[in-house]
Amino acid sequence: MILVGYGRVGSLVGADLAVAAVPFLVIEDSDTHADALKAANIELIVGNAAASQVLDRANLAGARCLVVAIPDPFEAGQAIEQGRKLNPGLQIIARAHSDAEVAHLTRLGADQVVMGEREIARCMIAALLPAPVPQT
Ligand code: AMP
Repeated sequence: MILVGYGRVGSLVGADLAVAAVPFLVIEDSDTHADALKAANIELIVGNAAASQVLDRANLAGARCLVVAIPDPFEAGQAIEQGRKLNPGLQIIARAHSDAEVAHLTRLGADQVVMGEREIARCMIAALLPAPVPQT
């Protein structure tokens, strides 16, 4: 599994993958978390995931899943497009912040795009409205 971006979103994904003992490597353009990842035995590739030389080092062709947790839709789109080209069977999950971004990333090959603002609204509604009574 390849996790792109290790900020607010990616580090939460990574923490749960680690608890579930799912092996993964991180591609991240900052080395802020390099020491912590090294201590946790998690491989880190420092670089821009939109660059093909960086993605080449991650061996996308041999991966099962690519999680793109970076906020820029153009960089995310480049990583997704290259991942899909190198590995047609790859499961690609991406992050977006508008319906237009969801459409863009889906068109480039993402299987699932999670729109942050929609998920926030969904959680707020769930906290405000009572759960529907199950039908018998
Ligand atoms: P956040 O918005 O807090 O989830 O942080 C996003 C993370 O993704 C940050 O740690 C950025 O350094 C990282 N990031 C953003 N763009 C790229 C990129 N093109 N390639 C690799 N990492 C990126």
